Amino acid sequence: MGKILYVVVPCYNEEEVLMETTKQLKVKMESLIKKGKVSDKSKVMYINDGSKDNTWNLIKDISKNDKLFTGISLSRNRGHQNALLGGLLTAKKYADIVISMDADLQDDINAIDEMIDKYNNEDCEIVYGVRNSRKKDTWFKRVTAQSFYKFMKFMGVDVVYNHADYRLTSKNVLNHFENFEEVNLFLRGIFPLIGFKSDVVYYERNERFAGESKYPLKKMLKLAWDGITSFSVKPIKFVMNLGVFILFISVLILFYSLIVKLMGKTVDGWTFIVCSIWLVSGIQMFSIGLIGEYVGKVYSETKRRPRFIISENLEENDEKN
Ligand code: UDP
Ligand code: MG
Repeated sequence: MGKILYVVVPCYNEEEVLMETTKQLKVKMESLIKKGKVSDKSKVMYINDGSKDNTWNLIKDISKNDKLFTGISLSRNRGHQNALLGGLLTAKKYADIVISMDADLQDDINAIDEMIDKYNNEDCEIVYGVRNSRKKDTWFKRVTAQSFYKFMKFMGVDVVYNHADYRLTSKNVLNHFENFEEVNLFLRGIFPLIGFKSDVVYYERNERFAGESKYPLKKMLKLAWDGITSFSVKPIKFVMNLGVFILFISVLILFYSLIVKLMGKTVDGWTFIVCSIWLVSGIQMFSIGLIGEYVGKVYSETKRRPRFIISENLEENDEKN
């Protein structure tokens, strides 16, 4: 008998895609159950993220007619990351493994088999779905999304390249994930921090078959900003380094203006003003950076992230045996 799988699908105004998604997921789930890869208690859990259309009614109908489907509804729209968080932490109560995916079937559901295999046969606790190519995305989406990953890397955030939120996680990982209590959520940055054996599965990203993207540029930029500011203190380091750099320049300017002064080529007061401007701005920039360093520390302390996670403890194993 296989493990209980819950597929968590956040939905925001997705009435146009929900029936087709349900149809395809039903076929997939039934085949997984038939092959014995997952338990027959496995389900698809739709998370209604405060939709303004008929989405929640559809979810209720679907789950009434088919025990393969269930749903939860958030009290209002909280955004994709929070909807996903609600889904993962709720599904974890009933499931051994949870897979998160989008409602629009852009993530190829056939990758689920491979994800489950990696969990069942290779003991992987996290399996990241990674896009092979972005041929089918619009030019604009492709360029913005790819710059997003490159910029994140540059800013010192450890993300899996071209992985969105299509991933398998074990109950164990989700139990640890629950201890990351941060409010500014950037899920795909947190999972690599948790550790445990993980792997990637490649798939072809499809076009959204109906409805329109709920991730316009504005939301994408907000996600990127959250990702950087929640995971990296590099921006603060830039300010600090800039301060040091300006202080260095001010020393050069000091020498330069003294030489010019000694050569008698200046008007009265010029040397003093030029040196003051550089020195004082350098000190200011440096001080801001210094304060920033402390703010950064305070920020990471307030997140209260777990400082370590134990994957195995032989002491406990002994007790059981
Ligand atoms: N979504 C959500 N809440 C929101 C915005 C989006 O739950 O506020 C869901 C949406 O229903 C979909 C997933 O997040 O299942 C990804 O959104 P979308 O496909 O529009 O993003 P894109 O693929 O264009 O980046
Ligand atoms: Mg999509």
